[in-house]
Amino acid sequence: MQVRETQCRSILTRTGGFLESFSHSLNPYRGCSFGNSLCGVACYAPEVLRAETRPWGGYLEAKVNAAEVYPRDLERERRRGPVRIFMSSVTDPYVPQERRLRITRRLLEAMVAHPPDALVLQTHTPGPLGDLDLLRAIHERCGVSVQVSVETDRVEIPGLPRHAFAPEERLEALRRIKIAGLRAVGVVAPLLPLADPEAFARRLDECCTSVIVDHYLIGDGSKQGVRTKRRGLPAILEAAGLGAWTRIEVLHEVAQLFRSVLGPERVGVSAEGFNAAALVSPP
Ligand code: SF4
Repeated sequence: MQVRETQCRSILTRTGGFLESFSHSLNPYRGCSFGNSLCGVACYAPEVLRAETRPWGGYLEAKVNAAEVYPRDLERERRRGPVRIFMSSVTDPYVPQERRLRITRRLLEAMVAHPPDALVLQTHTPGPLGDLDLLRAIHERCGVSVQVSVETDRVEIPGLPRHAFAPEERLEALRRIKIAGLRAVGVVAPLLPLADPEAFARRLDECCTSVIVDHYLIGDGSKQGVRTKRRGLPAILEAAGLGAWTRIEVLHEVAQLFRSVLGPERVGVSAEGFNAAALVSPP
């Protein structure tokens, strides 16, 4: 794993497409240390970074001056309209190197002083637990949602690498984020084979303020899940005898189950669910 510290010239990237309600994405790192774990198999980031030739999960560039650049970017971009940030679209703000480099933490400190209009912090880790003080401070100034991806309740899926963090660890993080008074959003995306959908729905109900569920066939930003198919996930699931989960019908069945357990207002589906998070107001 190659880790390199770099200087960035800007940190807010105008966005659109799938994340149309967000104005900007913010990626404190380029590359992702979790690229060789389970989530990396279906990760669309290397497909988005098309020019990238390095193996996904083999490198990380840390934008060490991100917090210094952010206030200037915010001031400039605000002249164009509200700044609604999705952090992060092509990396994880809590890669293991964050414990040492604290780029995400310093960005959150900068946001306390210079809040955007909305912030969605999205991760595959319990990392936000270490930044609850800052997230609460930002939450008082703008709409904040903390999204933790939990794409399955299975500890392992045959043919796929291990999770970076077990599903239960991430659910417990969501529970503690919710107790801290923040919006704790469980992101079941891309939906992977579930062992016990009903028990999973009940656990999400307990741990999350809301849930977003999505399927790669409509949610990976390409036509009919071409990006995910290129990365080989559907073929692995078929080989494992879990091919039923590669059909779009399971998304509707699981969404229906989640709605029956959590209530329809707490369940968002695909792009609509993600984009609703950009429009939340401060408490
Ligand atoms: S943590 Fe996110 S960005 Fe990193 S490999 Fe997994 S899905 Fe991709």
